[in-house]
Amino acid sequence: MKVLAHARLIDGTGAAPRNDATIVIDGERIAAITTQSQADFPADAEVIDCAGLTVLPGLIDCHDHMANHRYDLAHRWGIDEPESTRHLRTASVLRQTLEVGYTMIRDAGGLDAGFKRAIDEGLTVGPRLLLSISIVSPIGGIGDRMAPSGDCCCVPGDPLLPSGVVETLADVRPVVRRMVRAGADFIKCATTGGASSRPGHGPLDSAFNLDEMQALVEEAHALDRRVMCHALGGRGLDIAIEAGVDSIEHGCYLDEDPRHLDLMAARGIVFVPTLLVYEFHRKSPQPHVRERAQDLFEHHIVAIKKALAAGVKVVAGTDAGGHGHPANAGELRCLVDAGMTPMQAIQAGTSWAAECCGKEAEVGTIEKGKLADLLVVGGDPLANISMLGEPANIRLVLKGGEAVARAVPPRQNIVF
Ligand SMILES: [Zn+2]
Repeated sequence: MKVLAHARLIDGTGAAPRNDATIVIDGERIAAITTQSQADFPADAEVIDCAGLTVLPGLIDCHDHMANHRYDLAHRWGIDEPESTRHLRTASVLRQTLEVGYTMIRDAGGLDAGFKRAIDEGLTVGPRLLLSISIVSPIGGIGDRMAPSGDCCCVPGDPLLPSGVVETLADVRPVVRRMVRAGADFIKCATTGGASSRPGHGPLDSAFNLDEMQALVEEAHALDRRVMCHALGGRGLDIAIEAGVDSIEHGCYLDEDPRHLDLMAARGIVFVPTLLVYEFHRKSPQPHVRERAQDLFEHHIVAIKKALAAGVKVVAGTDAGGHGHPANAGELRCLVDAGMTPMQAIQAGTSWAAECCGKEAEVGTIEKGKLADLLVVGGDPLANISMLGEPANIRLVLKGGEAVARAVPPRQNIVF
């Protein structure tokens, strides 16, 4: 049994922080949240003094690419280094991501099921993983690996990452089934280009027609998988919402048509803006990427404000990978810059993110019975959200009650 004593508690529900809270952890779950004097735990429990520290739920990133490390073509095609080196690089990123307080990651494409298995078996250390395997898109979509020259990818596909390229309507359902067979917890698809996609396939250029997207959503739901859809704007954004995807990833031009946000609110479609990646793209050396990112910036900020006003849930995702693996909490800082309160940003990275992942019964808030995925920080994230992005402030991370990184020494049998 573990006890976090004298903590300032931000429980992830949006409730005001509680001072001098005691969190009792039994095995992998939270047994009680109480005050010190009322806490009931055995004398040999491991008591961790959290005086002066804040405890929050382990953070969740709803859009990450853990196995991607750069945007250049050689890396995208997997020919810049041996596969084994890349896998070890990915394993290192998984460990670092957990150590900075991220206890759950929804991968938006590129991470194969072997990493999840390796973490489950204790071969390596990392967050809880939700996988989407490969991005599903039509010929010419963002999942179709093409060079700007028009050349196709020259290396054989990885059997653990089946191709997500759909050629005709008849391919849609088999491709979805192949993703699930390869271990997908979510189906990731794309109905538009993006900032970093090839010239000619940008944020307002569509991919997939409505028939194809309806088949995709129907098949994914029949297999109990939610659909996370990369859609920035224009017709492709329209089609994604009309088809009934479960989350809109990026959604940069959601400010343009009020029907979009109203429909999302009515259908419970979540918005994952991924602001952090566009900070990177706004400085891209590639002119077409830079221009797209600069053009969408103002729209994106307005889209978030309108989404909150319309009652659409806005959750945190970094789109990390191509732009490296910066501290994922940088996204929470971006959300505050975009107009969310620090408490809303924390919810966007905890309870709301857990709902987006369909894991709200297990994680995302600090409540009795939930998994003890907890983050202990020095400092006050409500006063300064950026502090969550400074690894030095991360004092302790618990995943399922197990300490991951510990700078606070446990104190046995503390006297109250
Ligand atoms: Zn992405």
